[in-house]
Amino acid sequence: MQRFFLVRTVRLFKVLGIQIEIDYSWFIIVALVFFSLGFQFFPLVYGFSTSLSLALGALTTLLFFTSVLLHELSHSVVANRNGVRIKKIILFIFGGVASLTQEPTKPGVEFRIAIAGPLMSLLLSALFFAVGYFLPDTLFPLAVALQYLSVINLALALFNLIPGYPLDGGRLLRALLWHKLNLERATIIASRVGVVVGYLIIAYGVFQFLYLGSVLGLIWFAFIGFFLISAARESVLQVLLMSTLGKITVRELMSHDIVSVRASMPLREVVERYILGEKQSGLLVTQNNLVVGEISIDLLRRFPVRKLSTSTAQDIMVPIKRKHFLRPSAPAAKVLQLMAAEGFERLPVYINNRLTGVVTRDDIRVYLSVKTDLLNQEQRMHAKV
Ligand SMILES: [Zn+2]
Repeated sequence: MQRFFLVRTVRLFKVLGIQIEIDYSWFIIVALVFFSLGFQFFPLVYGFSTSLSLALGALTTLLFFTSVLLHELSHSVVANRNGVRIKKIILFIFGGVASLTQEPTKPGVEFRIAIAGPLMSLLLSALFFAVGYFLPDTLFPLAVALQYLSVINLALALFNLIPGYPLDGGRLLRALLWHKLNLERATIIASRVGVVVGYLIIAYGVFQFLYLGSVLGLIWFAFIGFFLISAARESVLQVLLMSTLGKITVRELMSHDIVSVRASMPLREVVERYILGEKQSGLLVTQNNLVVGEISIDLLRRFPVRKLSTSTAQDIMVPIKRKHFLRPSAPAAKVLQLMAAEGFERLPVYINNRLTGVVTRDDIRVYLSVKTDLLNQEQRMHAKV
């Protein structure tokens, strides 16, 4: 659901080094706001002429989205000041998101980043109210538009302060809990509130449909609710994965049964003895007792069969340099990055110049999935207590 949006975007301009992008879904909400203001609110509620209504509608729509952008920008500016890089802001159907390249490292930082958006919306609300209030009577239509913007910004601030992660209020809650608990527990609790909030919003949509007959209300709130729920669930998984990866090292991941062949071994022998015989999915290649490369089963599959008899392990291996040898203390996240960047499936672990183990990408994958399953079960157990 979260991936449903924020995929196809149009690049706009840069503000303070932050790229502003627009998701295609954004045009739907712009049209909705413009039509409801220009064709309903201004002409029907206030009796303004068509041309005045449309002009006011366009102006109000523009200022509305400027307000949303300013809300996101203030999150981003505070984040960048606190060392959390924000590269872009995407406007989409439910408002805007500032995409964080990393999670805040301290609860205080998270708190400041999260509060900045709603504070900006409150400030804008007060500003629009004040300007509208002091406008001369001749500018009454403009005062109406500013009043509307004041209410919208107040609503924006209040909605975002609902304490369900990943809404701003949920981030504030997480920051507060994070003071007492660790990041994972805090995220889990704040996200759980986020899921409840999501269901409440869907329930509100159902209420709108049943008692007010509003199909649009049902669709709208159901969409927002499901979006929140999926975003909350996804953030928990991400935090769990990152924290798991951050805590483990090569020592936990490596296995000691090292399978290696000499670089000069004919490939046919490699396939018959190790792949078909011992059912290995890959192996290390050594020369003068030093690892110089690795062979994976995928590599062998793509190798022409007729060349098997005339080639050696060296001809097909992915070369591994000395600088890629792992130490037991290397963090798992780094290893995974290195493997992805260089295309390694396995890497040797050296202790005091002795080959002592091997880490494979599959090992990491299995370790992570088991670990997250355990964490998820622990979560559920905590929930029952
Ligand atoms: Zn916000």
